[in-house]
Amino acid sequence: MSIECDDASGPEYSFVLPVFNEERTLPELYARMCELLEKLDGSSEVILVDDGSRDGTLRLMLEIHAEDPRFRVIQFSRNFGHQIAITAGMDMAAGHAVVVMDADLQDPPQVVLEMAKRWREGYDIVYAQRMERQGETWFKRKTAEWFYRLERRLANAEIPENVGDFRLVDRQALDAFKQLRENNRYVRGMFSWIGFKQTSVPFVRAKRFAGRPQYTFMKSLKLAADAMISFSNIPLRIALTVGALVSALSCLYGLDAIFLKITGHTVPGWTSLAVLVSFLGGIQLLVLGVIGEYLGRIYDEAKNRPLYIVSAVHGLPPGHSTAVPRAVISATSHAGKITAKV
Ligand code: UDP
Ligand code: MG
Repeated sequence: MSIECDDASGPEYSFVLPVFNEERTLPELYARMCELLEKLDGSSEVILVDDGSRDGTLRLMLEIHAEDPRFRVIQFSRNFGHQIAITAGMDMAAGHAVVVMDADLQDPPQVVLEMAKRWREGYDIVYAQRMERQGETWFKRKTAEWFYRLERRLANAEIPENVGDFRLVDRQALDAFKQLRENNRYVRGMFSWIGFKQTSVPFVRAKRFAGRPQYTFMKSLKLAADAMISFSNIPLRIALTVGALVSALSCLYGLDAIFLKITGHTVPGWTSLAVLVSFLGGIQLLVLGVIGEYLGRIYDEAKNRPLYIVSAVHGLPPGHSTAVPRAVISATSHAGKITAKV
């Protein structure tokens, strides 16, 4: 196996893999990644981001790092979530092209060869587009389909359909992306937003190699909400329209009530009152809820907290992390603890 990274200008390729409780997949992942690195036309580094795993994942990752220094490890102080994990990996990647892929082997490593080819042709961002999803539940496929349909209507950036976070990014585009430091991140939307020359490579999304998906329904829901809210003000506008419409209807109803009163046709209207009050109450709560979602995100950004806290870095020189805003990086695994707060 050739170990040929760390030349003066950095490796040609950086791989960023978010890892959360994947101990059963890691040995196979290591084997497949080595196979891929052999086939690539340049040197590589692989950055494994441990997103606060609670099983033997970290120990295994450190073993891999000790065996093969091309594999580097970033250790989070707790679980920060997939989108933040890939952000941290990209922040510290040194390659001329950076590839983000899942650690559960759902993103087949051989697709990267095709992506690298397109990159060599001059594309800045090459994303993998799912043609087929294997081994996913009907519920997951359906909700994903509805989500993409809604996203296409609402988002004010051209976000391609059936595209996840499996993509190759050129250094120039990545440096632009790194300037976007929002807390509630919808990374694939942010990549659409930055522009540059983009293209896609079709692929069949494989089954998870082992274990269960770490994206729980609640995590997926949060991602969907971030997608809608970070890229669109339309939910606010819909809330306003629904509010205005219902107010107009209740005005008409009020006029009708006054008319009935004047003409002496009043009856004890308990039912209609109850229906009306609860209906209006419901609409008000709905509208408030939409506003609350935006407000919560504004609050998050106003706090200006770091996006993540790295408790240890294994194999990356401290210089890698000096220019990262909104992140706390306590490094390294060797020779005591150097704290690089940026
Ligand atoms: N993951 C992570 N943090 C989390 C959840 C997931 O780093 O909080 C990683 C996980 O280990 C995997 C990738 O993100 O490498 C995708 O997760 P998963 O397979 O659960 O998502 P799905 O493929 O179902 O969308
Ligand atoms: Mg998966």
